[in-house]
Amino acid sequence: MYYDVVIVGAGHSGAQCAIALRQNGFMGSIAIIGRESEPPYERPPLSKEYFAREKTFDRLYIRPLAFWSEKDIALHLGVAVVELDPATKTLTLSNGETAQYRHLVWATGGDPRKLSCPGAGLAGVHAVRTREDCDQLMGEIDGGVRDVAVIGGGYIGLEAAAVLTKLDCKVTLLEALPRVLARVAGPELSAFYEAEHRAHGVDLRTGVVVEALVGEGRVTGVKLADGIIISADAVIVGIGIVPAVAPLVAAGATGANGVTVDDHCGTSLPDVYAIGDCAAFACAYADGAVMRVESVQNANDQANCVAKGICGDLQPYKAFPWFWSNQYDLKLQTAGLSLGYDATVTRGDPSARSFTIAYLKHGRLIALDCVNMVRDYVQGRKLVEAGVSPDLAKLADAGVPLKDLLPV
Ligand code: FAD
Repeated sequence: MYYDVVIVGAGHSGAQCAIALRQNGFMGSIAIIGRESEPPYERPPLSKEYFAREKTFDRLYIRPLAFWSEKDIALHLGVAVVELDPATKTLTLSNGETAQYRHLVWATGGDPRKLSCPGAGLAGVHAVRTREDCDQLMGEIDGGVRDVAVIGGGYIGLEAAAVLTKLDCKVTLLEALPRVLARVAGPELSAFYEAEHRAHGVDLRTGVVVEALVGEGRVTGVKLADGIIISADAVIVGIGIVPAVAPLVAAGATGANGVTVDDHCGTSLPDVYAIGDCAAFACAYADGAVMRVESVQNANDQANCVAKGICGDLQPYKAFPWFWSNQYDLKLQTAGLSLGYDATVTRGDPSARSFTIAYLKHGRLIALDCVNMVRDYVQGRKLVEAGVSPDLAKLADAGVPLKDLLPV
């Protein structure tokens, strides 16, 4: 089979790229090849509303199922791309078929990083990346599992822990670093979320090293390096992802952490782009540091950038990064990237559960974490986007609207 554009990966970025191609008037043939058997769906609710049973799966589809055929976008689902020959522009699929392309968009996200300790393969050990992962976990909870250990204090682990408490589970959360969210936020935000989880009954332990998962066939506990065994009849592992780029790298694409792309999301291979969680790029909002950004915003905006480029409107990728996380009744909204910050300012009172942490670098505002502070987020993202160096006293005064800090 031949398509003018083949998109590998039917997740956020792959779906959006196909949608944006049609929105930009692309008339050629488009196929999405996806390893999961589901048509494109939203991933964030897997650790939030879907896991909490507040949304059914049919509400997660990125587009109604009829959309794809109406827009003449071929979906090949339940099949992976296993090999790429850039010279003949040919893909080999896991079912033995081949596909040829004019443009190839690699949009494969990542696979959950696995524990490397003994017992990692026991039954009852779960990741939360796909619908299948989540359904298996929910099935176990329906079957009576009530004692859950969550390994990893990043957003996914914390969100899962929050839902599990609502589902009346006993939750132990284990983080190897001295604080949760250490890679993405400052100590003030970490301390706030640690206190919230503890107040909701989570046994949250930081600075702990998991030595093994124990059990006969099925997990019954987590053994820590100090010899303590924490009981668990299920374990959630949320320790990050490994970019799913093996076929692309084997074909010669450059990259160490994912695949490296230029400012148009092009890889080192001709007519091959990479977008979303698997693409490492020089980020304008992190002083040009080459990094992967794992967010729906980045997936969608890189998809739009590539779709426009294929349609002839070549623009460099420089979309503003933003993120969100829901835990309990707390809505965190993040504007910008705090990487490399050298000072923070807190607006409002964390004990009132409504506050903002501002991150500064050499006096310039680079990011905001807004907890139940929608107004700060909406007004403040303009400040971050503009790279403003605000008056610190005004910034710290929650009574001063952030929009007043925009230079006139
Ligand atoms: P994905 O959406 O993961 O899609 C990649 C697809 O490619 C997958 O279906 C995969 O199976 C498929 N694939 C992989 N290899 C192959 C292959 N060789 N052949 C064919 N198909 C392949 N982001 C936010 O901004 N806010 C949030 O609140 C948030 N919450 C999250 C909660 C959870 C539980 C998870 C897992 C992620 C969350 N994220 C959140 C991150 C966000 O979902 C990702 O950044 C986004 O999905 C990235 O899109 P993507 O297209 O790069 O990858």
